[in-house]
Amino acid sequence: LFVRTPLAGGSAVELDAGPANYLGNVMRLGPGAELLVFDGATGEWLARIADVGRKRMTLRVEQQTREQESVPDVTLAFAPVKRAQTDWLVEKATELGVRHLQPVMTQRTVAERIKRERLESIAVEAAEQCGRTLLPSLAEPVGLKAFLQANERPLYFADENGGEPAAIAMKEGPATILVGPEGGFTDDERTMVRASAGAVPISLGPRILRAETAALAALTAYMALAGDWR
Ligand code: SAM
Repeated sequence: LFVRTPLAGGSAVELDAGPANYLGNVMRLGPGAELLVFDGATGEWLARIADVGRKRMTLRVEQQTREQESVPDVTLAFAPVKRAQTDWLVEKATELGVRHLQPVMTQRTVAERIKRERLESIAVEAAEQCGRTLLPSLAEPVGLKAFLQANERPLYFADENGGEPAAIAMKEGPATILVGPEGGFTDDERTMVRASAGAVPISLGPRILRAETAALAALTAYMALAGDWR
């Protein structure tokens, strides 16, 4: 369970109505029951339900059960697509171990803006389901030009018009993956990306993938070589 209070041995965590109801009424857990909690910064802890009230619950934190995860420092920069696909992309990228999510607005991006709270709660649920102890950061959307100017690391640019195969072009180390919108990058955008410092065009095969498929294919290729997979 993700909790927003910093965790330490012996500390208490006050749950409000939502999680209290889920644990008490859905999971049928009562005083003394054990559960695993994480705060996104200090790894995973064993906690025990200490007190149950109307629409609230107190947990007593006991010992740490896992160190904070150390995932490769990879950013997925993506042009938001339709809501359901963006939701899916955030959930799958979180499961795959992405560290940062950076929405990038391009000329053909369909989504005018993103629903941060919604995407953050999707990332929390995905982290709870897959057992992550770190939540990916979700940055505010930024324009492509500003994004490129701010980028200071290898930029693996998923380009269906050609590039080295991802598994060959990608190297270990902090990196950013950039994927375009359903409508693709314009020629001007493609020229601008290719000209920006650190840009490495990568191919994800001979087929035209949906943006969310390309994002995850590129992230998978990176995670496989980044040694995140024991
Ligand atoms: N030009 C595409 C078309 O003709 O439909 C539109 C863009 S594609 C649906 C969405 C994005 O996925 C692209 O901007 C690119 O970043 C990425 N992508 C799709 N297929 C790819 C491939 N085979 N190699 C690399 N990137 C790919």
